Amino acid sequence: MNASNVTSADVIVVGGGAAGLMCAITAARRGRDVIVLEGSNRIGKKILMSGGGRCNFTNIHCEPVRFLSHNPHFCISALSRYTQWDFIALVEKHGIGYHEKTLGQLFCDRSSKDVVAMLEKECTDAGVRIDTHCAISEVAHDERYVLQTNQGEYRAASLVVASGGLSIPRMGATGFGYSLARQFGLNVFETRAGLVPFTLTGAMHDLCTRLSGVSTRVSASVAGTAFTEDMLFTHRGLSGPAILQLSNYWSPGQDIAIDLLPDEDAGGFLQKAKNAQPKALLRTALATVLPRALVDELQSLNWPDLADMPLGEIANDRLRRIAAGLGAWTIRPAGTEGYRTAEVTLGGVDTAELSSQTMEARRQPGLYFVGEVVDVTGHLGGFNFQWAWSSGHAAGLVA
Ligand SMILES: Cc1cc2nc3c(=O)[nH]c(=O)nc-3n(C[C@H](O)[C@H](O)[C@H](O)COP(=O)(O)OP(=O)(O)OC[C@H]3O[C@@H](n4cnc5c(N)ncnc54)[C@H](O)[C@@H]3O)c2cc1C
Repeated sequence: MNASNVTSADVIVVGGGAAGLMCAITAARRGRDVIVLEGSNRIGKKILMSGGGRCNFTNIHCEPVRFLSHNPHFCISALSRYTQWDFIALVEKHGIGYHEKTLGQLFCDRSSKDVVAMLEKECTDAGVRIDTHCAISEVAHDERYVLQTNQGEYRAASLVVASGGLSIPRMGATGFGYSLARQFGLNVFETRAGLVPFTLTGAMHDLCTRLSGVSTRVSASVAGTAFTEDMLFTHRGLSGPAILQLSNYWSPGQDIAIDLLPDEDAGGFLQKAKNAQPKALLRTALATVLPRALVDELQSLNWPDLADMPLGEIANDRLRRIAAGLGAWTIRPAGTEGYRTAEVTLGGVDTAELSSQTMEARRQPGLYFVGEVVDVTGHLGGFNFQWAWSSGHAAGLVA
């Protein structure tokens, strides 16, 4: 290797996403000489595509209970030292307009581009160097970390791995971080797609296809965990926030239960409708609280014999059974859409291998893991970016 091809720095950050950029900015503000190596043609691609182009950058109600991990306590330290309020202050410092959409979720008023521009400006001001199109072929460690790349050799005392998870491969996702962790003897938990739509087969698939585009508020649950938000029927199965949230808790082969009237006592509602309008049809009453197309499908699936029967003629016992069915529609997903559309990757680098204060590998000084590559995954709603900001900041304070 020609000496001119060797670049030295104090800190090398692999991955110019949310966690890597926050880490780089924090370390460079401490006076560290920082280089970000990004494999794709530009930084912040997932930020750009996030939140439907408006980046749900954090959540007002960010608490450790909103995160999944084999060690649920691991995230507490980083989240408490760089909070949602710290990130909001940064957004405000840059004059970026934002609003709460729902459930504490903060989105840009204009565009996700504002968040990427903000991080780029912070990087420039702090003196962070960013090298894109960088393909790393080998990482070794003597007294420093030595990376062989298509752009020559890089050397640094600290190596921060912020290469993200496996979701959306076409956006540059690679298994780099997991391989590197294994190379240095760190345990990595099996990964799987999270915040991802369910696929269905057979009659349920056909029903979903017919209802594609219909959305309704539900309470979706699996094994004691429930989320009350919207559910969306798609050509392939079920999606929408309630389903994406649930996917983090679902294992193949499990049934999910859908309460179609989460804000109503279904039995009381039907009884009241029967008393108030005995001549009305069941589907007419239900269409006041559920999408008409869904009611029609439920009718032909479950109560075809009641199509023309006035509510007043339906026995109370039958109404109670119908109400029970509306409150617990049992569905067995065939699977998920996988990493192709998943928002996050569950599992990853075992937190037992890392310091929760600094994100440094306990047995490998100078090596840090931050963001999604770590076995910490947030609920839908800005929590995953907050984990990226908080964990990146924690490492940036010491790397
Ligand atoms: C469609 C979509 C929408 C989302 N919306 C939201 C949202 O609104 N709110 C929210 O909180 N979360 C959202 N998320 C999740 C969020 O984007 C991630 O949790 C977050 O980006 C993780 O940050 P990270 O820095 O760890 O990883 P990433 O943002 O994935 O960044 C990793 C970076 O490393 C680079 N890289 C990978 N391998 C290599 C390599 N070998 N060499 C060099 N570089 C490499 C990648 O190109 C990438 O730039 C969304 C995800 C998706 C897919």
